[in-house]
Amino acid sequence: MNLILLGAPGAGKGTQAEVICEALKIPTISTGNMLRAAVKNGTKSGLEAKGYMDSGKLVPDEVVIGILKDRIAEDDCKNGFILDGFPRTVPQAEALDSMGVTIDKVVEIYVPDEKIKQRLSGRRVCEGCGNSYHVDFKPTKVEGICDACGAKTVIRKDDEPATVESRLKIYHEQTAPLKGYYQAQGKLVTVEGQEEVKETSRLTLEAING
Ligand code: ADP
Ligand code: ZN
Repeated sequence: MNLILLGAPGAGKGTQAEVICEALKIPTISTGNMLRAAVKNGTKSGLEAKGYMDSGKLVPDEVVIGILKDRIAEDDCKNGFILDGFPRTVPQAEALDSMGVTIDKVVEIYVPDEKIKQRLSGRRVCEGCGNSYHVDFKPTKVEGICDACGAKTVIRKDDEPATVESRLKIYHEQTAPLKGYYQAQGKLVTVEGQEEVKETSRLTLEAING
């Protein structure tokens, strides 16, 4: 099964991706995580992407499409995958189509903008392994320390309030049109993000299996 998770930054796509990954035993592909790793390792695409990412802008389509294409060609994607954060523009969706990738379902996690702003202000990310946490919704066992690797957790540069506004604007202008794109293909299902992460997960799995 090939799935896409759609939703505003901070809607909880990554968290739900983990749950689906566990349930269906298919890998999650997060272009955001891949790009952050590329930046950290100073690769060519990382160098290209850094400025855009820090200011909350989208990385150019050709860079992201290149990264994605290589990743889904890997062996572990044979039985399907979950795309978290890709596609984010209509040209990216068209690129998937022209690679001959069949998407089974697109799950939109819907969270209103006001809630998004609250959520992003509490988000923390591990400097070491890139795991994401949230001070209220998904706290680390020890404050400021990653459960998985013990490194420090920090506020992502693009989660600063000023940057969040522009990311939301970009989401509505460039990514939200994908809802229409996939609705026209009969693939879109919408799940409302709940206060309880577990409840959102239940609804998400239901949407996928239903
Ligand atoms: P979030 O979902 O919280 O916005 P991500 O971790 O998915 O964050 O992405 C972080 C940043 O990486 C984005 O703001 C953007 O600069 C870049 N990025 C990730 N995926 C894409 C994509 N598909 N197209 C363009 N830029 C992307
Ligand atoms: Zn870590």
